[in-house]
Amino acid sequence: KEPTDINALADEFLRLSYHGLRAKDKSFNAEFKTDFDPTLPKVNVVPQDIGRVLLNLINNAFQASADRNKDLAGFENLPGLTPTITVSTKNLGDKIEISVKDNGPGIPESIKDKIFQPFFTTKPTGQGTGLGLSLSYDIVKAHGGNIIVNSEEGLGTEFTIELPHDR
Ligand code: ADP
Ligand code: MG
Repeated sequence: KEPTDINALADEFLRLSYHGLRAKDKSFNAEFKTDFDPTLPKVNVVPQDIGRVLLNLINNAFQASADRNKDLAGFENLPGLTPTITVSTKNLGDKIEISVKDNGPGIPESIKDKIFQPFFTTKPTGQGTGLGLSLSYDIVKAHGGNIIVNSEEGLGTEFTIELPHDR
């Protein structure tokens, strides 16, 4: 672990994800936004591991909102449905929060308690391993932190990572 500027790390992995997704998808259309707390202290983390968590969450957020956009565009071109992913940070003193928010379809109540289980996926065979969130959970727990999901069907999903900060 090393003292890490989480805003810089999140920015780096957001860009990485943006360029990776744009290169893969010819009809790529999405907005990536940030809302970084400038007072965020450096926190002790394994940068590549927390980066991997962010990549998982951002890619999930994009896939969910892009798929929904395609479904809706199929019969009605509703405005305001450009996939929008917002990564934000917050300094809470003895801990920090990193959140990844999307305007996708949300997570049905019936599967909310399953999404962190290894191999749980709702994606077609070959498109999802179901390992992203379980790995992310393990990494965050290994940092003494927490990962929480808030999701409203039809509105979107927000994953929040809490990481302890020893002052
Ligand atoms: P995978 O992406 O390979 O399916 P994950 O562990 O990353 O595996 O996610 C597990 C499941 O959780 C997904 O298949 C999907 O059903 C649900 N999920 C994760 N993130 C989101 C999101 N942002 N919006 C809606 N559903 C999500
Ligand atoms: Mg995933």
